[in-house]
Amino acid sequence: MKRKHEGCAVGIDLGTTYSCVAVWQEQHCRVEIIHNDQGNKITPSCVAFTEEQRLIGDAAKNQAAVNPQNTIFDAKRLIGRKFSDPIVQDDLLLWPFKVTAGVNDKPMITVTYKGQEKKLCAEEVSSMVLTKMREIAEAYLESPVKNAVVTVPAYFSDSQRKATIDAGAIAGLNVLRVMNEPTAAAVAYGLDKRTNCVEERNIFVFDLGGGTFDVSLLTIKDNNFRVKATAGNTHLGGEDFDNRMVNYFIQEFKRKNKLDISGNAKALRRLRIACERAKRSLSFLVVSTIELDSLFEGIDFCSSINRAKFEEINMDLFNECMKCVDSCLTDANMDKSNVDDVVLVGGSSRIPKVQQLLQDFFKGKELCKSINPDEAVAYGAAVQAALLSEDVKNVPKLVLQDVTPLSLGFFAVGDIMNVVIPRNTCIPVKMTKVYTTAQDNQTSSLIKVYEGERTRASDNNLLGSFVLCGIPPAPRGSCSSNVCFSIDENGILTVSSTIISSGNSNQITITNYKERLSAEEIKKLIKEAENYRIEDYKFLRKAKAVNALDYYIYKMKNALKKEDVNIKLSSEEIEKIESAIAVATNLLSDDNQKVEVDVLEDHLKGLESRMEPIIAKTI
Ligand code: AMP
Repeated sequence: MKRKHEGCAVGIDLGTTYSCVAVWQEQHCRVEIIHNDQGNKITPSCVAFTEEQRLIGDAAKNQAAVNPQNTIFDAKRLIGRKFSDPIVQDDLLLWPFKVTAGVNDKPMITVTYKGQEKKLCAEEVSSMVLTKMREIAEAYLESPVKNAVVTVPAYFSDSQRKATIDAGAIAGLNVLRVMNEPTAAAVAYGLDKRTNCVEERNIFVFDLGGGTFDVSLLTIKDNNFRVKATAGNTHLGGEDFDNRMVNYFIQEFKRKNKLDISGNAKALRRLRIACERAKRSLSFLVVSTIELDSLFEGIDFCSSINRAKFEEINMDLFNECMKCVDSCLTDANMDKSNVDDVVLVGGSSRIPKVQQLLQDFFKGKELCKSINPDEAVAYGAAVQAALLSEDVKNVPKLVLQDVTPLSLGFFAVGDIMNVVIPRNTCIPVKMTKVYTTAQDNQTSSLIKVYEGERTRASDNNLLGSFVLCGIPPAPRGSCSSNVCFSIDENGILTVSSTIISSGNSNQITITNYKERLSAEEIKKLIKEAENYRIEDYKFLRKAKAVNALDYYIYKMKNALKKEDVNIKLSSEEIEKIESAIAVATNLLSDDNQKVEVDVLEDHLKGLESRMEPIIAKTI
């Protein structure tokens, strides 16, 4: 069922390394990718904390090398995961910021902000990036933005999806829908190329971003977008290729200088930035150089890497991508020769070796590079946001049908995964299986819900559990209940159970997932987000007041520099300006760092009213 929402709704691609926001422009019947305050259409998903302020986006990334411990990136790699997850443990080794285990094994990032230690969860960091994207959209649209469609990798698990919705809530956004990234990209591609295509076309979307990898096979016909299968890896992308290169150069530094830089956060951060840049240039050059002055203990580091070496150190990861491509086609029961278009999405899809492997896989088929891989996902999300909004006109009437990426089921006797909804089932969906008692006179059962593809239940990901009580005593196997799994449009699962014997029914819905933030916690984080906003506003206001006063000092000094100043102004007036300059300069000196913003603003006001008539005489 389609819900309509009031007010402007945007599409946000919340990426691991970069994020992008877009909106449907009804007057022009097209999507507008919105540029940020720096004029860029993509914004780094980066948040930094300093002695004075919090920074988000380009400002945060630009100071990363000098403040590595307090500059957070890659929050998407942590979202919805546990601290003990081996993937998190691996990532920790290369992150310059500190991550520790919190309550229920939730990973918590520790930073120092205004001299105090602060612990943040991944949802909170992502909410800050979402807030920034909302502000970018609000500045462009000149109106408040409350609703958004936020994209997630198709292969995101239930808890990762829920955590993303929580991040939206903390950012004060009503998340209309979490949309799968490759589906969003397919919408962008479909609208760009194949509007109203009458013939059914099979589109294969290959989405290799900064931290995640997704492939989806869709069919498009008459504006109906139907996902047939999806596969991927929520922990494979450009950052991994960067890591390989960082390790390669760490070894080289060790060999050349007998020194290990891996424990030095600042050196690592600088090396990582240089590696990412080198990696990008290897997409169009065959050799790329790295030059870092005084990288570690005063030693300059200058080296190079060629494309062949880059490919060699990442080949297993590239092959991993191709395995997913193959398994997606197998799941969709489709031969590769039936794929009409192979669409490239995500910054890392620009890597020539990746393109070559993909082209070889599809027997030399030309790859579609016509859509911008950085913007396609936000584009599709903006169309979906418009479709779900009230009063938005001229939106193409698309029908989108997605699938669930992972099988969902419950624990059955013998640690068997009893699958209720197999992976790649179209969503929304509701499916029921019968659960029978395992013991004589059993009056309650613990139903454990899992997600994953392994036959042994405990090898899969435990989503939650609940106790079904009130089962009438009976011999084992004779009493049964219906366990109903239902997945909504966001890919989020609800499980309920009803005892069917003797007409008794008992229904329980899983709502409590241990690692998910509670309503109380979200409320607290919303409050904190508001505090950050107020602090950011205060900082900005003070910076503006300082700049305005500084500019006025400059203006007064310029007035005094005029050749005919002694003719136009009396010596008394000149003295007045000189003393005003001295007072204002003192107010801006280091000794007065703590002066209140009101004092600065009032001082400027007074200064302008006293000095303006005098300065005017010099013009
Ligand atoms: P996305 O998540 O789609 O924004 O992709 C970001 C990732 O793409 C980052 O890891 C970038 O380093 C990577 N990337 C962007 N441009 C290129 C390029 N020309 N060659 C290789 N990787 C790139």
